[in-house]
Amino acid sequence: MKKNVLITGTSSGVGLESAVLFAKNGFKVYATMRNLKKATALSERIVHEKLDIEIMQLDVSDNASIQKTVQAIIAAEGKIDILLNNAGAGFAKTLEQATQAEIDWVTDVNYTGVVRTTKAVLPYMREARSGHIINVTSVGGLVGQPFNELYCAAKFAVEGFTEAMASYISKPFNIHFSMVEPGGITTEFMNSAVAKTADEKGTMATGEYAPIFEKYMASSQNRSKNTEVSTFQTSSEVAAVIMDVVHAENPPLRVRTSEWAENLCRLKTEADPDGTKLVNAVATYFLN
Ligand code: NAP
Repeated sequence: MKKNVLITGTSSGVGLESAVLFAKNGFKVYATMRNLKKATALSERIVHEKLDIEIMQLDVSDNASIQKTVQAIIAAEGKIDILLNNAGAGFAKTLEQATQAEIDWVTDVNYTGVVRTTKAVLPYMREARSGHIINVTSVGGLVGQPFNELYCAAKFAVEGFTEAMASYISKPFNIHFSMVEPGGITTEFMNSAVAKTADEKGTMATGEYAPIFEKYMASSQNRSKNTEVSTFQTSSEVAAVIMDVVHAENPPLRVRTSEWAENLCRLKTEADPDGTKLVNAVATYFLN
């Protein structure tokens, strides 16, 4: 029987390319998206590249849709081998300017959504004594960056959630936990972040924050022109890193996806780049 994978957020970007790559690597792919009207791009790839991918509806903010889809996969397959929590959304706005609704939304889609899908799938992996949960976080899950406090906090939350579960679930139940931590990726992500955060004049920070935001934007633009190490990756490049994590004999707890991302996080990660030492030390300290 083929191994299967459930992927969230496959309407575009990393989720879509991962769905294609998993299928090309022999997996039965359950590619989920919150809005099936956005399935055209993936449907066309399925037809042209003759891929074994089933598209299903799943909104990570809606527990009923998660339960429905997970139950349907379990009914068909009896198991879920890999859960790729990829759905997420960018948000760049100061805390002072974000509304409570925006604060709730950015946390819900980037963090609580991961908790919901993991809670739905974990019992089946535990019973099977087999599974791999891979969470797409970000360099923003390790390094807090200007104007990204709410997004970074949500990704930090995913890092803490994953690290804690890895410390006591991995060994007894043979369930691997990994976090894939990209830097910039050329996807819809930036456009949707701007659409969500800019006001009607296209401004993303006002008042006393405006000049700081201008510096932030100018420095991003200069960096992307001047640096020898490319800031951005394609979705396919990130999907290839995810596939390496899947095929690794000892899957890493965390991995950056580019040299740029590695350089940015080095102060946090150089003592233990893939997180193995930390997770083993925590398990030894608390569980021996
Ligand atoms: P993307 O092309 O915008 O894809 C994001 C996906 O998440 C879309 O399919 C989107 O669906 C989906 N999504 C959003 N809200 C959802 C919800 N409530 N339920 C289910 N799906 C939902 O961006 P991407 O770059 O591929 O992002 C993939 C992951 O990489 C995210 O976790 C992101 O945080 C992370 N990441 C991105 C970057 C970057 O620079 N792009 C950098 C570091 C990390 P809709 O089409 O319906 O909105």
